[in-house]
Amino acid sequence: MAKLRNGQGDFERACSFCGKSADMARRLIAGPRDVFICDECVEVCRKILSEEEHELASQFTGDIPTPREIKDYLDLFCIGQEAAKKALSVAVYNHYKRIAKASKAESDVEIEKSNVLLIGPTGTGKTLLAKTLAKKLKVPFAIVDATTLTEAGYVGEDVENILLKLIQNAGGNIAAAERGIVYIDEIDKIARKGENVSITRDVSGEGVQQALLKIIEGSIAAVPPQGGRKHPNQEMIRIDTTNILFICGGAFVGLDKLIERRVVQHPLGFGSDSSERSGKNLKELFDSLHPDDLIQFGMIPEFIGRLPITVSLEELKREDLKRIITEPKNAIVKQYIASLAIDEVKLEFSEEAIDAIADTAISQKTGARGLRAIVEKIMTDIMFEIPSIEGEKQVIITAETVITSKPPEVVLLRKSA
Ligand code: ADP
Repeated sequence: MAKLRNGQGDFERACSFCGKSADMARRLIAGPRDVFICDECVEVCRKILSEEEHELASQFTGDIPTPREIKDYLDLFCIGQEAAKKALSVAVYNHYKRIAKASKAESDVEIEKSNVLLIGPTGTGKTLLAKTLAKKLKVPFAIVDATTLTEAGYVGEDVENILLKLIQNAGGNIAAAERGIVYIDEIDKIARKGENVSITRDVSGEGVQQALLKIIEGSIAAVPPQGGRKHPNQEMIRIDTTNILFICGGAFVGLDKLIERRVVQHPLGFGSDSSERSGKNLKELFDSLHPDDLIQFGMIPEFIGRLPITVSLEELKREDLKRIITEPKNAIVKQYIASLAIDEVKLEFSEEAIDAIADTAISQKTGARGLRAIVEKIMTDIMFEIPSIEGEKQVIITAETVITSKPPEVVLLRKSA
């Protein structure tokens, strides 16, 4: 028998878990100092871990919130977008019901998975909705940007890295990741370019759609554990994407014109504003979307076929933006009030100031996305000065503060003792 020598003298190599000697075990793996583990004990450990994973995953199937409960939760964070919230709540409920049903295997009718396509201008809440859904369902969530993806062999990320992100966000629990939600942003940016430019291979468009198709429709994907490119000899993580819900989102600029061309019988000459021609607004046009419009836009038919639910989001109006500033659970204004309260400041925003912030966001055309930056700009000077002023203070943000960027007055309410 192989004898080794350590500080205390000779010893035999044996599994530190079951005691099997090196001669009896097929493989003995050495750890630090004099620790060893045999192949059979490795297998037992693997089984324990996999059972735990499955237990975690099955816990989920018992508790699916109803569409109404999901919508109520979305209402806490997302203002407006009533139709989108309703459609998404139903889609997500059906998706998880389908998984729960599959695990109970009650009937042979196979309910197909329904991934979702969100269409709406930038900053209207597409990412927010996807993120909030994952939070409500307590499933792992990953956001990826479609523009960073390329088909294998080109500079950029392989589509499998999307799944790696999800696995990482699931803390390495593959079973949990297999029931997660992936939000793919800027999906419109991988549209096929016009027919005439496709003489060379369309690296960023059609190829990526083809590559994404496989993981979106449900397959066993091989993911490189460290990310980056696949290498022939690398061990891969295997993940089944059948039950992962894919939500794709994009602004689809120009799609409204394609829809309009189809729905309006007598289009006027070019140059006229599309929204004037049919009298329909963006949301109404997106509501009459037909898969052919998306194909014309440059999405491949197979890809569209895998996103059977399309949900359109409305452009946010002034009233919506005002509510977004003040109402949601984590509204911007509430955050600043809470943060400055720590410095003994009573912070208030006048009604007119909220109006002015909303108007600035509208003029910047960034939807609700720009709101935080606008408020941050107003608050920077105050947040710089105020911690140096002792005592209880009051600051009122007025429309003038917003419009002229003039720092507001700090009123000392009570000197510190
Ligand atoms: P996009 O539609 O471009 O994905 P996001 O969801 O990323 O937009 O929105 C950017 C930010 O704007 C969000 O983090 C959120 O704070 C705010 N926001 C956008 N839409 C809404 C909404 N409908 N209700 C509340 N906040 C919103």
